Amino acid sequence: MRSVRIENVSKQFGQVYGVKDLNLEIKAGEFFTFLGPSGCGKTTTLRMLAGFYYPTKGKILFDDRDVTRLQPNKRNIGMVFQNYALFPHMTVDENIAFGLQVRKFSKAEIQHRVDRIRGQVHLAAYGNRKINELSGGQQQRVALARALVIEPDILLLDEPLSNLDAKLREETRIEIKRIQSELGVTTIYVTHDQMEAMSMSDRIMVMEDGNIKQVGTPQEIYHQPKDRFVANFIGETNLIEGSIQAIKGENVQVRTVNGHILTGRKQQSSPSLTHMIGDKVFISIRPESIQLGTGENTLSGKITFVEFTGISVNYIVDFTAFSLKVMLINSYDQIKKIGEDITIHMAQDSLYFLGE
Ligand code: ATP
Repeated sequence: MRSVRIENVSKQFGQVYGVKDLNLEIKAGEFFTFLGPSGCGKTTTLRMLAGFYYPTKGKILFDDRDVTRLQPNKRNIGMVFQNYALFPHMTVDENIAFGLQVRKFSKAEIQHRVDRIRGQVHLAAYGNRKINELSGGQQQRVALARALVIEPDILLLDEPLSNLDAKLREETRIEIKRIQSELGVTTIYVTHDQMEAMSMSDRIMVMEDGNIKQVGTPQEIYHQPKDRFVANFIGETNLIEGSIQAIKGENVQVRTVNGHILTGRKQQSSPSLTHMIGDKVFISIRPESIQLGTGENTLSGKITFVEFTGISVNYIVDFTAFSLKVMLINSYDQIKKIGEDITIHMAQDSLYFLGE
């Protein structure tokens, strides 16, 4: 396993920047995810790591080795694509062995390695099955085995779960994470699915328009988003617009556009916020952090939407100038109806302040 360093890398396609001035360090053994909406530059970055694209400027290093302009087959990387790119009429073993044959390993070594990796991806009994006789999830694991059997320094995964249905996607997500942590291979994962990113990664890079918005652990990205884009993109959040009215020690009071005063803590703010009286701010509050009844930051409003998901009851509550999504877990006894009044409160620690 190796570390990866991306230094000042840009990739231009004519006038269009795929990515711009990217600086990033991925630690050896880390499960690192590139996350962002379509067109943000995830695949372009992954392709530069694979060697399918060369950067227009900047450097890429695996440990201290400069690989910026090295051909893909000289990088010792394993790769799994969205469509798996398996040979459908060949057996599982023939598919897995392919990379080893190209690298001219002995027959005995190939058999030994194929048997071992087939066991690791829980396909021990499937060696002679044809690919087109396997389920989507099994095919995905063959693709993973084929990438891992060469014992790559770095594993690159490009939206590997997008062809699976929701349940299988969750199972396979757990499988990939298990295999990765057992083998300890540095893994870079591309997805636009924030749930996948959150549940699998040691760290996540959130991208937008070819730029890095934030790099951090799933917890940091979720609880301390740097800006409104990250707050909105990772999980659901409510954003309430207001301006700072007073600062009393650690407490910050914000006046919302319709005159409510909400109080939060100074340390629960994005680093870009300067905390000057009169500053415009956005308060981010997660739907699951809002509680029923009175307490800190109590508000009363009218229910405009109700939904029961099995795990939670979700409401949208109108407070005249803004609405909040409220997610109540384990609170099915008295599900309220559209049009009813509701009182909610928000703990001061659960408000997070973002700048403009
Ligand atoms: P998706 O999730 O849709 O795959 P992405 O985040 O992987 O998106 P990229 O494919 O890296 O995004 O694209 C980043 C930007 O670079 C986009 O604006 C895209 O149109 C542009 N781009 C990517 N590849 C090329 C290319 N070969 N020629 C021209 N423009 C390209």
